[in-house]
Amino acid sequence: TTDDVNGRIDFNDVSFGYLEDQPIIHNLNLTVHAGEMIGIVGTTGAGKSTVISLLNRFYDVNEGSIEIDGVDIRKMPQETLHRIVGLIQQDPFLFSGSIIDNIRLFREDVPKEQVIEACKFVGADSMIRRLADGYDTHLSKRGSGLSAGERQLISFARIVVFQPRILILDEATANLDSHTEQLVQNALSSVAAGRTTIVIAHRLSTIMHADRILVMQEGRIVESGTHKEL
Ligand code: ATP
Ligand code: MG
Repeated sequence: TTDDVNGRIDFNDVSFGYLEDQPIIHNLNLTVHAGEMIGIVGTTGAGKSTVISLLNRFYDVNEGSIEIDGVDIRKMPQETLHRIVGLIQQDPFLFSGSIIDNIRLFREDVPKEQVIEACKFVGADSMIRRLADGYDTHLSKRGSGLSAGERQLISFARIVVFQPRILILDEATANLDSHTEQLVQNALSSVAAGRTTIVIAHRLSTIMHADRILVMQEGRIVESGTHKEL
C-alpha cells in the first residue's frame, strides 16, 4: 500500500536534456515538503513540463537524483511510482473506451457509484451527464470530442478514485471557456487538500493559494516566493 507515503519530493542537483548536447534542466535543486502546494510559472519552453516528466520517470535524469520520501525513484517499481504520483497532463490523453472506464482505468472492481461520487466531488458530473450516454459515453480518438479542460476534469476524478499522495497538475495552455476554467480551479482546491501538490500554471489565479511559487527560465529556478511577494 502507499498509505504510509508522506509525499516529500527532493530534486537533488538534477540535470537533463532530451538530446545529449542540449541540456534543458540545469542543476535543479528543489524540495517540496509533504502536504505543500507549490506553483511553477515561466515562459514557454522553460522546462516546466520536463520537470514533471522526470518526476514521473518518463525519462531518467542525466545527473543528480529525484527522491520521494528519501527514496530514489529509480529504485521504485514503476507501478509504485504511478500509485504515489497522480499526474494531470497539459493535454490529457484518454483511452478509447467509456468515460467510466477512463476514470477507473478499466478496473471493474471500482463500482460505478464510487466513480459518480468522485465526479461530483470534482465538479465533472454535470458535464458527463450532458454527454449522449453519460458515464457510458464511448470516447473515440483518445477523447478528442472533449476539450483539454474537460479531459483534465476527468483526470481529477481519477485522482479521487485512486488517491495518490502527490498531485501534479500541468495546467492546460489551450484556451478554456471561463466555466470550465472555474471548474478546473475548484477541482484543484478540492483535490489538493492534504496532498503534496505541484501546479504548473499558465494563469496566476490558479496558484494564488500556493505556499510557494517558483519562476523557471531556461531550465533554472530564477525566483521564488509567495504570490504576494512576486
Ligand atoms: P510550455 O509552457 O509551453 O508548456 P514548458 O516550460 O513546459 O513550456 P517543456 O515542454 O518542458 O517546456 O520544454 C522545454 C524544452 O524542451 C523546449 O525547448 C522543448 O522544445 C524541449 N522538449 C520538450 N519535449 C521534448 C521532447 N520530447 N524531445 C525533445 N525536446 C523536447
Ligand atoms: Mg509545458
